[in-house]
Amino acid sequence: MGDFSLELNDDQKSVRDWIHGFAADVMRPAAAEWDEREETPWPIIQEAAKIGLYSLDFYAQQFFDPTGLGIPMAMEELFWGDAGIALSIVGTGLAAVGVLANGTEEQIGTWVPQMYGDADDVKVAAFCSSEPDAGSDVGAMRTRAVYDEAKDEWVINGTKTWATNGGIANVHVVVAVVDPELGTKGHASFIVPAGTPGLSQGQKFKKHGIRASHTAEVVLDGVRVPGDCLLGGKDKLDERLARARERARSGDGERVKNAAMATFEASRPAVGAMAVGTARAAYEYALEYATGREQFGRPIIDNQGVAFQLADMRTQIDAARLLVWRASWMATAGRPFTSAEGSMSKLFASETAKKVTAQAIQILGGNGYTREYPVERMHRDSAIYTIFEGTSEIQRLVIARTLSGLPIR
Ligand SMILES: Cc1cc2nc3c(=O)[nH]c(=O)nc-3n(C[C@H](O)[C@H](O)[C@H](O)COP(=O)(O)OP(=O)(O)OC[C@H]3O[C@@H](n4cnc5c(N)ncnc54)[C@H](O)[C@@H]3O)c2cc1C
Repeated sequence: MGDFSLELNDDQKSVRDWIHGFAADVMRPAAAEWDEREETPWPIIQEAAKIGLYSLDFYAQQFFDPTGLGIPMAMEELFWGDAGIALSIVGTGLAAVGVLANGTEEQIGTWVPQMYGDADDVKVAAFCSSEPDAGSDVGAMRTRAVYDEAKDEWVINGTKTWATNGGIANVHVVVAVVDPELGTKGHASFIVPAGTPGLSQGQKFKKHGIRASHTAEVVLDGVRVPGDCLLGGKDKLDERLARARERARSGDGERVKNAAMATFEASRPAVGAMAVGTARAAYEYALEYATGREQFGRPIIDNQGVAFQLADMRTQIDAARLLVWRASWMATAGRPFTSAEGSMSKLFASETAKKVTAQAIQILGGNGYTREYPVERMHRDSAIYTIFEGTSEIQRLVIARTLSGLPIR
């Protein structure tokens, strides 16, 4: 036999079991309470920080796992515990990745630690890209950043929406337009520290699911940040804009857009893994329930009508995980997503989570429909996966365009 294997190695298994323990012992028992409270579960984040689970080090270790399976494995276990609490724990990572991907070494060293704080004083961070009129259509972004050369400051005006941890973050990473002529190529990211005059939280949303995760508007009204809050620095931005203008002039814009899309694709398997975690949690609950619940003098799982549903649920979850693992492995191995494999994994896993959690409710009957049983919450939570980080329709668009090479609308 060659060296192909889908088995986790001993190190991966021990990390998985450690996360699973935290998910089972700390997150699960707290899930219903924080869902009802609709508040950020600070004590749980603090618990995670105490054991090193809420830290940059932990995510960096998983990210650099050479098989690519570190992040999907961690996400699956955390979201198996509870999706709302898990998003509160991993939401900061989205902003941290924004700085790691675009920031200078100095910016990374200054800002990323401030995003996490420490176990005695935990902090969170927010990544603010979406706007009321720019959701799927990122190119419609209006938040504007203008350079004030005399003061070496950037002045930012606009309203962001749907920001996870928006308004309660110690550090906001804000995407803004610096050159409206260049579409998405004219965007840049800025650090906006908490307490900056003009930065405020707008509406906090009351949501259908993942209610332990804080989601809000972020208003930027004449916010001024020092020049060194531009991620990557001014020289790099000027070079990038000059290149984009040159490509726009020479008609090479489409190639540039596709390269950007390919980069974005790389983060999608992680969302797929979150969906696998929620789906698996609902499936396991339904399996146990179907074995214990008796009607007509026998466990309901003795009926093919129920057992076959569970067979389908498990098959789809395993298929989703394989797509997620394939895409994560490809991203780590530097293989290009020539068939939009990142989008495929996110599309299939998120649709699976919605389907499987709905089936779990059905298998629990009336109990499944109540908040006394967790599958109702899991079903509400699962609806987010087909929406954020690109809706299912946008994933299909990316896949169809990649496969056909045509500008399908
Ligand atoms: C709980 C939550 C947390 C979030 N966290 C963050 C965050 O931290 N930071 C951040 O920046 N954003 C965040 N988002 C925003 C999220 O990424 C957007 O909601 C998502 O991209 C969709 O944008 P939209 O809501 O404006 O929907 P729209 O873009 O208005 O889409 C509405 C519907 O139209 C469909 N549609 C749109 N265009 C097309 C098309 N071309 N073809 C076919 N169908 C189409 C969509 O698929 C969807 O079904 C979050 C959202 C939620 C709900």
